[in-house]
Amino acid sequence: MSMTPKFSFVLPAYNEEDSVVAMTERLLAVAEQIEGTVEIVWINDGSSDATGMRLDSLTQRYPAVRVFHFSRNFGHMAALCAGLECARASHAVITLDADGQHPPEMIPQMVRCWQEGADIVQCIREQASKSGVLKKVTSRGFYKVFNLLADTDIPEGAADFRLLDRQVVDALNTLPERVRFIRGLVHWVGFRQVSIPYSEKERLAGTTKYSLKHMFTFALNGITSFSVRPLRLSFVLSLFVILSIALYSGYVLFALAAGKDISPGWTSLVFIVLFLGAAQLLVIGIASEYLARLYIEQKRRPVYIVRKPDSRREDA
Ligand code: UDP
Ligand code: MG
Repeated sequence: MSMTPKFSFVLPAYNEEDSVVAMTERLLAVAEQIEGTVEIVWINDGSSDATGMRLDSLTQRYPAVRVFHFSRNFGHMAALCAGLECARASHAVITLDADGQHPPEMIPQMVRCWQEGADIVQCIREQASKSGVLKKVTSRGFYKVFNLLADTDIPEGAADFRLLDRQVVDALNTLPERVRFIRGLVHWVGFRQVSIPYSEKERLAGTTKYSLKHMFTFALNGITSFSVRPLRLSFVLSLFVILSIALYSGYVLFALAAGKDISPGWTSLVFIVLFLGAAQLLVIGIASEYLARLYIEQKRRPVYIVRKPDSRREDA
């Protein structure tokens, strides 16, 4: 290596006052084990406890630590995005949670994968720590639905614990969309991706910041920013109604031929109801198709992303 590589560790923190100091110290110890320089970028996501103050005092003590304070709580995704934008000069960015659930001791292994040519090193949770049954079930359900609707294959344990090469970070930073479902976007940008397993640790302190309400919003954001299939629902439903018209017509013709006694007015009433239902659903379906196009266009994602020749070999 002709030039020392520079790494940024990016950590979003929301009310993690009892974890930030210990995490920083563990990260500094890990930094000793890897070849290259390290900066630790903390994003204080509008914490209302002592997180901000403790992070500020860490910057006084350790020159490698940088802190950005949000003006209020903007959420985990916003904090991650800020971290990726603040880590400007580094050759690779490693994102991890502030609470110690993503063991920093994995980082040297992630860096080795990167040196061997991976652009994205995704850590996959092997078995969840003692997180509640509800969390496990909802998380599994979400990834099933997401992968089905969005035609992707994001594994359930693919947390926001990953290494991203400079090229990937640049690609993510240039995506203009506002709702940023990073787990999906990392998959979407492509590049050479490898996965390594890790076992999730217990939180160092505090409790989860993802309430059921937050998880629901997260799931909704994820699905709606990666799939327009729910918009096609009315179209599919209209096909069902049309099918039922066909079946019902068959039945009426059969009943008439068999000389069955059908009360007058009943048949035409059923036809009118089914016809109107089908017509409405079809029109909504067509409108939804245009809405889907508009939605896809307004996200203004690039049509393609070019992977440049490997920068690691020449300058890293
Ligand atoms: N987080 C954040 N803003 C929020 C919620 C969470 O920056 O609004 C951070 C949090 O401090 C932690 C990471 O995102 O570093 C993951 O959150 P948490 O550990 O609560 O989620 P869980 O691991 O329970 O899914
Ligand atoms: Mg956590």
